[in-house]
Amino acid sequence: MKIGWRSQRARRRRWIVARSRAGTGGRRGRLAQQPGLAEEAARWRPGTGGAEPVLLEITGLSKVFELTKGRLFKRRLGTIRALDGLDLSLRRGEVVGLIGESGAGKSTLVRCLMGHTTPSAGQIRWAGSSADPGRGAGGGIHAILQDPFAAFPAGRTGIELIGEPLLRAGADAAGLDRQIDPLLERCGLSRQDGERSLGELSGGQRQRIGIARALAGRPELLVCDDAVSALDAAIKAQIIELLAELRRDYRLTFLFLGHDLAPVQHLCDRLGVLYAGKLVEIGPPQAVLRTPRHPYSQLWLGSPDDALGEDDEAGPTPLAGPGRPAPPRPAAGCVYQPSCPRADAGCRSMPPPLRFVATGHAVACLRAEA
Ligand code: SF4
Repeated sequence: MKIGWRSQRARRRRWIVARSRAGTGGRRGRLAQQPGLAEEAARWRPGTGGAEPVLLEITGLSKVFELTKGRLFKRRLGTIRALDGLDLSLRRGEVVGLIGESGAGKSTLVRCLMGHTTPSAGQIRWAGSSADPGRGAGGGIHAILQDPFAAFPAGRTGIELIGEPLLRAGADAAGLDRQIDPLLERCGLSRQDGERSLGELSGGQRQRIGIARALAGRPELLVCDDAVSALDAAIKAQIIELLAELRRDYRLTFLFLGHDLAPVQHLCDRLGVLYAGKLVEIGPPQAVLRTPRHPYSQLWLGSPDDALGEDDEAGPTPLAGPGRPAPPRPAAGCVYQPSCPRADAGCRSMPPPLRFVATGHAVACLRAEA
């Protein structure tokens, strides 16, 4: 009986997984030859995230964009506050998810962390030391985007793209293949896949190349910005499984951002809800999704069945976004006050701080009950 290329590839993947799980052999063993990642793998102990030191600490992070009109004589139209005093910390080995609608500040946060934009206020501390505002959190952080190669010509090959960060880190060009092959294999790709151009690869294969490229930079924190939302359900599940394996094997810390609840539900230690550049709720994923305490989370996440639906590919219905007017930002008090069904006079006096209402579950609402 003739075996099709798809089943051959599936067999090869199963073989790769089996060999990897066998311990020191296979791709994990070969990857261990790489300095840095091997050391990380040796240090990683599953389940120790809570006792680990803080890797990333964000304090009072704000970003205000000026809206102007005209090229020569710029006329100021107003401002957009994309991030508004965001506080968040990640422990080494922890996976934190932040969900929010379009305009909640997710992409601006990624840009601040990567050093692509300078925050208007606040501080990013990386492993205990202040990050340069123009450089973000530094070399230990790498991003996996929805399409990591949107800015690259379709003719570039995966091997070229994975080799770039290795060369930047000082790798010997003659021995580059010895470092690239284990990365490809670890991400479920063959050498032949790596030699194909981006235009010949499927969305899932491109994402695997993106992950291999991120690993080549020897990251400590991977920021995944809507990294799986464009993939179909089966590929999405495979990529999520791969990310979970990488977390376990190489002690990686993850920050997931997006609006798709399925990945964050399964991977995250903590899940936060962003609204208008603020963190309005954070806690254990099941608690935030099943019993949200903030009025905005309750309205957005809807009923528990809606929020946790395995087949809910689209995620919750957005309240704001393209074509929808952003709610007005009040001059004082709680930022959600103009839309909040539970607002009272007290909500206009002061912005509500995040406070714990249950174990590990904090909410920024004056009326949330413990
Ligand atoms: S503080 Fe007031 S306005 Fe803000 S979410 Fe709570 S009840 Fe609503």
